[in-house]
Amino acid sequence: MITFTNVSKVYPNGAIALEGVTLTIEKGEFVTMIGLSGAGKTTLTKLLLGEEQPTEGDVLFEGRDVTTFSVKELTDLRRRIGPIFQDFRLLAHKTAYENISCAMEAAGKTDEEIISDVPHVLQLVDLQDRMYHFPSQLSGGEKQRLAIARAIINQPEVLLADEPTGNLDSVNTEEVLNILRKINDLGTTVILATHDPQLINGLGGRLITVEKGKIVKDEQHRRKI
Ligand code: ADP
Repeated sequence: MITFTNVSKVYPNGAIALEGVTLTIEKGEFVTMIGLSGAGKTTLTKLLLGEEQPTEGDVLFEGRDVTTFSVKELTDLRRRIGPIFQDFRLLAHKTAYENISCAMEAAGKTDEEIISDVPHVLQLVDLQDRMYHFPSQLSGGEKQRLAIARAIINQPEVLLADEPTGNLDSVNTEEVLNILRKINDLGTTVILATHDPQLINGLGGRLITVEKGKIVKDEQHRRKI
């Protein structure tokens, strides 16, 4: 589904973010990328989304080279890969319902689809009681669960989570991880980037360790029962 072949990225200021990265991610995997801040995790996600271009090597999504995508194809790609971030990036002046309905409208969904799907996705992330709350009225964990709901509402093939629990306490972190697992169990590929070794305890799935722009370890991790 996703293939990086011998990918290097050197930013214009000379910073070497990635060096000779080769990686294949199959549909349905739960992949955690772990590495210190500055290891190159975000750069990997930006290359995948076509937000940055590799200096060397190829980045393929479903067999097609992301670097050759037109603007329209990039828009489509970014619908197929739903992102969530440490800082949530919700629309502050919109309710939970509207944060999701806006994403559906942008994807051309009908009013009927919106009315039927928004309550369902809010239920999936256990926010059915927060439908008309604004982000400022939600806890950190609730905000991130709303961001997840928005990221998955248009059924992306991949959920890309860059430090999604960076602003959360341990209880909320566990809830967010449980939801990511649930979404993965429902068939969506999940890619999680984190610097936090605590997070991977018992997480399961595939664990890729990134150090100074290189993949130094790629292993299957045992899931907590
Ligand atoms: P991580 O997500 O693991 O913290 P990043 O991919 O953000 O790592 O960064 C990898 C390296 O690339 C770091 O040395 C960082 O300073 C550098 N870097 C990241 N983005 C840029 C940029 N836009 N311009 C210059 N250097 C950058």
